[in-house]
Amino acid sequence: MIKKLICNQKLYQFCVEQKISKQKSKKGRNILLFILSLGLVQHYTKTRDYMSNIFLSEQEIYDLNKNKQLEINKKQLKYHEINLQKNKEIQTAVIIGGGIIGLSQALKLLQHGYSVILIEKEQFISTKCSAFNGNIYNPYLFNPLISKYSIKTMFDNYINPTDSATQRFSFGCLQEPGALVWLFNALRLSTSDSKFDQSIQDMTKLGQIQEQEFEKIKKLGLLENQLTAEGELSLYKSVEYGKRISQSFKQAGVEFTEIDKTNYNQHEIDRQLFNNYPYVIKLDKENNLDTKQLSIQTLKYCQKHYPDKFKILYGTEFNEFIMNYNRYVIGINTNKGVIYGNKFIICAGLHSKYIAKKLAVTLPIMPCRGWIIESELPENAKGSVLDKMVLKLPTLSITNLNNKLRISGCQLIDKEYKSDDPINEWGAQILIKQMKEQFNIDLDPQCISVRDCCRPLTPDDKIILSKLWFNKNVFVNAGHGSRGMSQCHGCAEIIYQLMQGKQKEEHVAFDLKRFLFI
Ligand SMILES: Cc1cc2nc3c(=O)[nH]c(=O)nc-3n(C[C@H](O)[C@H](O)[C@H](O)COP(=O)(O)OP(=O)(O)OC[C@H]3O[C@@H](n4cnc5c(N)ncnc54)[C@H](O)[C@@H]3O)c2cc1C
Repeated sequence: MIKKLICNQKLYQFCVEQKISKQKSKKGRNILLFILSLGLVQHYTKTRDYMSNIFLSEQEIYDLNKNKQLEINKKQLKYHEINLQKNKEIQTAVIIGGGIIGLSQALKLLQHGYSVILIEKEQFISTKCSAFNGNIYNPYLFNPLISKYSIKTMFDNYINPTDSATQRFSFGCLQEPGALVWLFNALRLSTSDSKFDQSIQDMTKLGQIQEQEFEKIKKLGLLENQLTAEGELSLYKSVEYGKRISQSFKQAGVEFTEIDKTNYNQHEIDRQLFNNYPYVIKLDKENNLDTKQLSIQTLKYCQKHYPDKFKILYGTEFNEFIMNYNRYVIGINTNKGVIYGNKFIICAGLHSKYIAKKLAVTLPIMPCRGWIIESELPENAKGSVLDKMVLKLPTLSITNLNNKLRISGCQLIDKEYKSDDPINEWGAQILIKQMKEQFNIDLDPQCISVRDCCRPLTPDDKIILSKLWFNKNVFVNAGHGSRGMSQCHGCAEIIYQLMQGKQKEEHVAFDLKRFLFI
């Protein structure tokens, strides 16, 4: 039996016969059996998920369109009225997920002549990650959350837990679908200096595409009262680590300057801050941008300029794909009915993996929890770097937009959950403590709002921009980690190019092919 399954005489002899003839332990055989059974279970669940889609014959499609409903395998299918409003002359792209990524994708496709149907399961856009993040716009500065440095820190923090550790790992994450695939790929893709440098270079190239696209977006007037910071300061506790990171930036062509601290001794807050950090760099970018605001502006723009071509459906949740008997995706089934389209783009953040699973693809995306605090800018901070610049400290990031501070930080790789009491969790407590220690600012719990949110994190912290192999009209724009808003237009452009059949060299770094066992 094992021999047949392995299909390789030498491997069989090595793993099984050798061990048996020497009458040693059955460890090798057991490990093989374990791996094989894992493979079989994965194969079985993939087939089961794939087969739970809805397969329709020509006649059944005709019946559904005519009668507006159809019973198939004891499932009641409803025809969605949105299909009647479609212009058959132009291609329709169906986008699943109305966060900043789905909206940027919608704008890009509308600009290139597509008709777009965007579905969002909540009652409004950007109610998840795109509402609760750091609001830092920076398409270049990329310090992967998953790297040889952070993996080590996370495990150290796991073995010797301290209250102040800001990077953590919980074995609860193993309950997430695809967790082992994620873990395996994280160890494979993120544990060497060369992979670290490569990731920075890949993300810098994406940053360049983002910047080109962003220049066009600025002209559309989507950025009112945004980008008001004078630049971004990154502060490092250790000169050695700071120099290591800046060397990677230099190699990747990211422009920055090392700071002369004497320029920052005017304000008490600045003096105290700069005393604590021996190495500081500055990026001359205007980079505070409210992600939710940008989403709303993008939505309004699409509705105003493409009233016939753009449709958004709230409270509409993806359930499964509709395929014809050639296994070609022709539509999606939602809680509100069947929606037909020509192209489908999965932009559902963390939940993209549940959608891709239906097409037998394991997207290695893990929830990485973070906390954000919103507070008024204190009077005594006016005129300081807190007021004027975006700050990236090792433990937290801060932006100020229209006198509202957005403080974000902490990373906990865990299973997905939403806290009922985020202000009392360690992430928020660390941010409050850090504001006191670093800036001497007391955040009054009555006057702040606190949220926790899960970043969609891939094993190498690089985004997934890919066409699916077996269903070539389905695309994935997901796994943006901490860079979703900063890279949204670049990602939309790459997906558009993939949809046109163009796979440029710089796109390959973001293809699903970089992962194994998916
Ligand atoms: C603490 C923290 C700080 C961050 N700071 C920054 C920062 O400073 N700068 C930056 O650029 N990025 C930052 N990020 C990352 C950024 O917020 C995300 O990468 C980005 O918001 C992801 O956008 P999205 O549209 O993919 O996901 P989301 O905003 O989560 O949107 C996905 C949407 O899909 C919908 N959906 C899910 N399933 C379905 C379904 N079955 N059917 C229909 N709809 C569905 C959801 O309801 C949701 O609206 C931060 C993230 C965190 C957590």
